[in-house]
Amino acid sequence: MTGFAADYAGASVTASPNHGERVDGRSPDMILLHYTGMGTADQALTWLCTAESQVSSHYFVYEDGRVLQLVPEARRAWHAGKGVWDGENDINSCSIGIEIANAGHPGGLPDFPEAQVRAVAQLCRDCGERWSIAPERVLAHSDVAPVRKVDPGENFPWQKLYLDGVGHWIEPAPITGGRFFQLGDAGQPVEALQAMLALYGYGIEVTGEFCERTKGVVEAFQRHFRPARVDGTADSSTIETLHRLLGALPKFNRS
Ligand SMILES: [Zn+2]
Repeated sequence: MTGFAADYAGASVTASPNHGERVDGRSPDMILLHYTGMGTADQALTWLCTAESQVSSHYFVYEDGRVLQLVPEARRAWHAGKGVWDGENDINSCSIGIEIANAGHPGGLPDFPEAQVRAVAQLCRDCGERWSIAPERVLAHSDVAPVRKVDPGENFPWQKLYLDGVGHWIEPAPITGGRFFQLGDAGQPVEALQAMLALYGYGIEVTGEFCERTKGVVEAFQRHFRPARVDGTADSSTIETLHRLLGALPKFNRS
C-alpha cells in the first residue's frame, strides 16, 4: 500500500507496510498510547515504516503536535505485541495505536510538550467519537503489557488528557503511611487487591499470593493512575485510588 486517505482530518499520510487484517472483522474499541523511546522522532518514524521492523502504529505524533497516519484505522497495525485487557488478548485487533515521539525512560523521561499533548487529545477525541470508544478504554501500552512494557511512562500527563475530555482518571489519593502489601505477602487482602485490578481490566489472576506478576501489575497501575511513586507496593494510597477509580467507572454507574 503506497497511499490512502487519512481517517483523521488533522493527519497527513506516511504509509507503513506493517499491518494486516483485524481478526474476525473487529472494529477498534480501544485506544492504546505509546512513547517511541528513541533518540529522535525521525529515527522512530523510519523504524515504524520499515518492513523489516515488523512494527507500526496507526498514528504518530511529533513533539510539535504534527500528526501522521501510518496505517488505515480499518487495518490491524502491529503496535501492542503480547498483551491482555479485560479478557481480550488480541489487542492489535481491537485497538488504535498512537505512537508519541518521546525519548522515554532511556532518554530520562523528557516532558511531553503542550502542543503534543493537545494534538494527542484532539486525535483521541476524534477516534473516540467515530468509533464510540469508552473513556476507560484509552490505555497505556504498560496497562495491557505490564512488566514487559513501561510506555508511555509515569511522566505522561493523563490528567491533562482527562481535563481535555479523554480517558478515565481520578485524583490519586495522597500518599500516607499505613498498611501496605508487597512481594511475598499472601492472604485475603492480596486476593481483594487482585480482584479489583482484574475488575478494572488488568491481566491478573486472583491467587491471594503477591507474586512478581502482581507487583508488575501494581506498577503498571501506579504508572497510569498514581505516578508520584511507582514501586509495585500496594500502599493505602494505591488501593484507595484503585477503589475510587472503579467506583467512578461509567459502566458501574449506568442507571
Ligand atoms: Zn509501546
